[in-house]
Amino acid sequence: MTTRRTASSPATKLSELSLLSQIRSRASRASTSAVSLGIGDDCALLRLGPSEELAVTTDLSIAGRHFQLDWHPPESVGHRALARGLSDLAAMGARPVAAFLSLGLPRELTKSSARGRSWINRFFDGLLALAEIHRTPLAGGDLAESPIAIADIVLVGAVPRGKALLRSGARPGDLLYGTGKLGGAAAGLARLADFAAAPTQPGHPKPLNISENLATQLTSHLYPQPRIPQGLWLRQRGLATAAIDLSDSLSTDLAHLCIESSVTAEIDAAPLPIHPGATLQQALHGGEDYELLFTAPPSARIPQSIAGVPITRIGRILSPRKGRPLVALVTAQGKHPLTPEGWEHFS
Ligand SMILES: [Mg+2]
Repeated sequence: MTTRRTASSPATKLSELSLLSQIRSRASRASTSAVSLGIGDDCALLRLGPSEELAVTTDLSIAGRHFQLDWHPPESVGHRALARGLSDLAAMGARPVAAFLSLGLPRELTKSSARGRSWINRFFDGLLALAEIHRTPLAGGDLAESPIAIADIVLVGAVPRGKALLRSGARPGDLLYGTGKLGGAAAGLARLADFAAAPTQPGHPKPLNISENLATQLTSHLYPQPRIPQGLWLRQRGLATAAIDLSDSLSTDLAHLCIESSVTAEIDAAPLPIHPGATLQQALHGGEDYELLFTAPPSARIPQSIAGVPITRIGRILSPRKGRPLVALVTAQGKHPLTPEGWEHFS
């Protein structure tokens, strides 16, 4: 991990060095044998198995775009930055090896406040707690002063050669499954937005003072759980033909899978596992649930739960045909084309 500065005084330099050494010592506590050399040199050295390939993904979190400094607890921002990358590894059935983080922060977020620990320390509380759960050491990165808070995370995973779960493997006749519940993150974000706008929050203290009761209702949004054990299970059993993680929304990500596999799909509305408090619209079009969507042939014996997370059969894969929509929703009223309405950048 290195730092880039504009002109800085010796005192500033000292505080940066102490910040870095704090991060380094906290990160080193969770290292694994897959990291031969972590933070401290010019590069990290990673050790892989003899017949493994690397799975690499990168995710950008920008203040005002992916999180709000005055809404989100810093622990949640750190957790979500890592969760997004881990979820991509889960979708490929990859085992996490290491994380790399480039962080750009306004100076005030690195300072301890009268109310307690600094924003950056609390950010790392959230990030490193999730990293420990999934045995994902933080093996390097970069730190710079920036006019806006921005976190760019790179996740490196390992997967046996030729065995990664891909978006492109779904075949007509396959059944469509999802992990966990849908719409919880969108419902939580809506609640958080309502709470932030409420007149009981004068001047929007930074970040909002969220009660424990409200925090429980916001868990799916603030602290989504990447489905690493479920992705590993599916890859090891060889049951899934294709997989993708639900970062944008069911409607958007299923469309991605269909395009990559050159197939179409139908979702059944009735069995959809809608999160308590969420609507059907949020389950279909809300993003950031970080559940896995996967396909398997009808002969595959898919259990009702994998590593403690329920699995629901939610539809089927069909061949492309003239006049057939890419994705359709089947309800008691009939079949309707389902237009992707999830998160799309530059749209
Ligand atoms: Mg993804």
